[in-house]
Amino acid sequence: MTRADIEAVVAVAKAYGKKVTAHVHSDQSGRDAILAGVDSLEHASLLEDSTIDLALKRGVAFSMDVYNGTYTDTIGRQQGYPEIFLQRNTYTTEAQRIVFEKAYKKGVTLLYGTDAAVLPHDMGAWQFAIMVERGMAPMDAIRSATSVAAAHMGLADEVGAILPGTRPTSLRFKAIRLRTSQPYAESIW
Ligand SMILES: [Zn+2]
Repeated sequence: MTRADIEAVVAVAKAYGKKVTAHVHSDQSGRDAILAGVDSLEHASLLEDSTIDLALKRGVAFSMDVYNGTYTDTIGRQQGYPEIFLQRNTYTTEAQRIVFEKAYKKGVTLLYGTDAAVLPHDMGAWQFAIMVERGMAPMDAIRSATSVAAAHMGLADEVGAILPGTRPTSLRFKAIRLRTSQPYAESIW
């Protein structure tokens, strides 16, 4: 999509009071989407420093599925994906994790992202450990999946916190060991 295309999408969405997220991997796509006025970026894998800075300045959040490259590599080797695909996955996985580290240090709002359906749904919690391994404080990782995500969606009064008046939380943590390497997360609903 061109920047004009994205601007048109944003204009229509805003007219209806909707948030807009852009599915982007490249730096150019990320920059175009931010300048077009989106609220968040999915993946944000290959952003340059200047684009991360621009996101911070414009208040654009990132939803980064930082674990998923490991899953793709594991499944890809089991199922015989072409080597070129696996190499590219290895490259983009590490590149995205580096962007995640930079974005966290700079103070970009980070929303917990699973890229749902790439992983089995009961592995949704596996992002947490990579987030912490790559520099995020454990409580910030939990907030990214609860109160921070709720606030981003304009739902802070309803979900994302355990408070009187909020709906019962849909996240139920059984055992998440953020400070150890294995297993990352035993279970999460
Ligand atoms: Zn995606």
